[in-house]
Amino acid sequence: MTLTSPQIATALAGLVGEGAVIAEPTRMGGYLKEPRKRFHQPAAAVVLPGSVAEVQAVARWANANGIGLIPQGGNTGLVGAQVPLRGDEVIISLSRLDKVRSIDAAAGHMTAEAGVILEEAHKVAEAAGAMFPLWLASQGSARIGGLLSSNAGGVQVLAFGNARELTLGVEAVLADGRLYQGLNALKKDNTGYDLKDLLVGAEGTLGIITAATLKLFPLPEGHETAIVNVASPEAALELFYLVRGRTGSRLTAFELMPRFGIDLQLKHSLLARDPTASLSPWYTLIEVNRMTGGLPGACRARSKRRSARG
Ligand SMILES: Cc1cc2nc3c(=O)[nH]c(=O)nc-3n(C[C@H](O)[C@H](O)[C@H](O)COP(=O)(O)OP(=O)(O)OC[C@H]3O[C@@H](n4cnc5c(N)ncnc54)[C@H](O)[C@@H]3O)c2cc1C
Repeated sequence: MTLTSPQIATALAGLVGEGAVIAEPTRMGGYLKEPRKRFHQPAAAVVLPGSVAEVQAVARWANANGIGLIPQGGNTGLVGAQVPLRGDEVIISLSRLDKVRSIDAAAGHMTAEAGVILEEAHKVAEAAGAMFPLWLASQGSARIGGLLSSNAGGVQVLAFGNARELTLGVEAVLADGRLYQGLNALKKDNTGYDLKDLLVGAEGTLGIITAATLKLFPLPEGHETAIVNVASPEAALELFYLVRGRTGSRLTAFELMPRFGIDLQLKHSLLARDPTASLSPWYTLIEVNRMTGGLPGACRARSKRRSARG
């Protein structure tokens, strides 16, 4: 039997409460419009579960009733995978699962729920004296579940890798509502198949990520940033090898930008001013940490106190 939208909304309200279901098309706009405005399908409903148990209940119900579920985080994805394709699916927003469950800066990991906004994860890590090295322009809206599901990489991908390399463990609800409990902080984990690596980058096709244990790194003392003119991509590659050879793991960002890209951003007011010193066909954006390694801030403070006491 095919359920109508009102029947779907009523069933979902029974699982998560009326306040956590959006059934009126006029209130769904923010969940349906994706950044590139290429996909324009409606949804049967939007559901916002407030706990892992509620995510499981929704998945179990959707599976039993043949309803398609589309997980959504910050809705910043650029390929439209977070919005409906047919128009009869239910969007399941993870935005209410927004707690950082635990953080251990000294051991180098934090466990954050899928709905934690990346910028918030940065703040929590920094307050503990550590850094979570995933930076991208959508960090004020993109959420942990979406970043992992799209295996995002930002400006520091060269130094620290994509989201997959920054993930130690994952907790996810499978299509039939079962919970995969893979939250693991162990770096040297060589047991069995790596299901976490399948869930990361799966764009929600293998399960709904509800939380993840993420790698943290020591906070650098500071960093130097430069925009360097280069004649061609080949020259940029030469410069990359040179800088990497001189700075090693302190090289945290190296991006190639065409002049055309800067002009486009200026034209559309995405840049307030031209950041380059002079005209060049290509530029590289280089960032080098002043110091990496050592202990996270909190540990540095403790070790200083210890040495002060002798
Ligand atoms: C201005 C801008 C700059 C960007 N820069 C970069 C960049 O430098 N590098 C880069 O890699 N990407 C970049 N992106 C795209 C980037 O991949 C997304 O911003 C981000 O990773 C998606 O996170 P989100 O929470 O918005 O996910 P959404 O857009 O909501 O979803 C993205 C995908 O993940 C799935 N999903 C969401 N949450 C879950 C979950 N909990 N469980 C399972 N599946 C889920 C969705 O179904 C969808 O398939 C940029 C985007 C913008 C708008």
